[in-house]
Amino acid sequence: MTTKPIVTRFAPSPTGALHVGGARTALFAWAYARQHKGRFILRIEDTDQKRSSPESTKGILRDMQWLGLRWDEGPNHAADDPYANQLGANGPYFQSQRLDIYTKHINQLIEAGLAYEDDGAIRFRMDKDVTFCDEVFGEMKIAAADLEDFVIRKADGFPTFHMAVVIDDALMGVTHVIRGQEHLNNTSKHVALLDALGFERPTYVHLSSILNPDGSKMSKRDKAKVARKAAKDAKLTSVGFDDDAFAAFLDKKNDEMKFALAIAEQLNLDLPEINVADFRDSGYIPAALLNYLALLGWNPGDDIEQFDLDFLIQQFGFDRIGKSNSKFDRAKLLSFNSDAISKLDTGTFSMLLGQQLVAHHPEYTDLVNDPPRFAMFCLAYQPRAHTLDEVADMGRFFIIHNSEVQYNADDKQVKKNLLKNNCEGLRTLADFATELEQLTPFSGEDAHNLIKRYCEEREMNMGKVAQPLRIAISGTVVTPDIALTLDIMGKKDTLLRIMRCLDAFSAQMEVTAE
Ligand code: GLU
Repeated sequence: MTTKPIVTRFAPSPTGALHVGGARTALFAWAYARQHKGRFILRIEDTDQKRSSPESTKGILRDMQWLGLRWDEGPNHAADDPYANQLGANGPYFQSQRLDIYTKHINQLIEAGLAYEDDGAIRFRMDKDVTFCDEVFGEMKIAAADLEDFVIRKADGFPTFHMAVVIDDALMGVTHVIRGQEHLNNTSKHVALLDALGFERPTYVHLSSILNPDGSKMSKRDKAKVARKAAKDAKLTSVGFDDDAFAAFLDKKNDEMKFALAIAEQLNLDLPEINVADFRDSGYIPAALLNYLALLGWNPGDDIEQFDLDFLIQQFGFDRIGKSNSKFDRAKLLSFNSDAISKLDTGTFSMLLGQQLVAHHPEYTDLVNDPPRFAMFCLAYQPRAHTLDEVADMGRFFIIHNSEVQYNADDKQVKKNLLKNNCEGLRTLADFATELEQLTPFSGEDAHNLIKRYCEEREMNMGKVAQPLRIAISGTVVTPDIALTLDIMGKKDTLLRIMRCLDAFSAQMEVTAE
């Protein structure tokens, strides 16, 4: 006896970027197919000619690849030419290339008297009660009185979503339809069509929605919302183009992304990530994102939260999928991401960080291309990074010119560590600098030992030297481990920054010297 292979599919409409909700659907469909050594199909539902675009298709393919969700059948894996060499015998995998297949089945329904023409469109007769079972939502019964005949072919000759999805799932041998809850209500139409055409029904698994913590739907409008608020707080009245439309944006009359992006750029603002590509650009690691997404609506039990894809493939099942909506908890995702980053081997981390910096912060290119120094930089930040992108901000003081370090006499840490008690910290820094100057050869470790010895001799706490030194180097007390920091800075720039810092506060020193 042969059992039917498990076939799942992810069927995005290429009308925009791959959003985290879509990624979770794809993940579950992929994991289920992998668990059963079945096939995972990627099918592009591009029958809505006006809203679909090849750019969206390419973006979706690229994001799926980045996530590591490889499909066995579907468009070519190379995102730059998805239409070539489609993979698998059940293709083509673009609905826009399957029109004659749909026409054939639509004609069959017309001939059988199950569908009829109405104003140029073709409608399917819904005159029977429908019952179907969903793995998550249970048995659904819809009385014929509550059902209406519906369009299966539009007047323009294109099939509707309902017709295309049903034919494709049947012909491609899909055994499990895993998709978002927004399609639960469509399913009565789908099973009625399947029954009429004599196809077997697949198993249906509808996934509840992913919401923002305030219960609103997660959508690209969240970016507009955050940008609008920031623009209002900053009293921004123009972004340099389309002033009228921008005024309308501020007035909530439109949510245009170009304004959200322009505001973010001008105010140096981070917009909330919604799409997979947003998370990638912010420096999330696919493993952490997938791990977090898997927990939205599913859990492996036993309070286990952090796991890898092999674990998910082994443990995944429909019985632990919940009906209630899940809230997207950014703080939790961030902590998953920092754990995932800290667990990467150093080579992988430095490769990923290097790519991130060069792509999004080209001012780091020289540092990335200086392997010994970049290796120390990676050592310094791997344990502290929540995202790859955050490192660009945290480590910026290493790559700026010495003259760009800002020293601020009103800063709490500056007051405490440099200015307090007649500029005690500054005086210590000046004195320590004379010893540091003598240190040859110079290394972070030797400098660290020097600090230790210097402080022991004077019976002071090491912070009395290390904190002023951190401020001299970075303008703040937030730097990595002091030995590594000094290694990355090098002797010459460390001493130059100490001089600049002493200079910056010379007025305060003079006053206290009187
Ligand atoms: N193309 C549909 C969508 O993007 C998916 C339909 C399905 O999974 O059955 O929502």
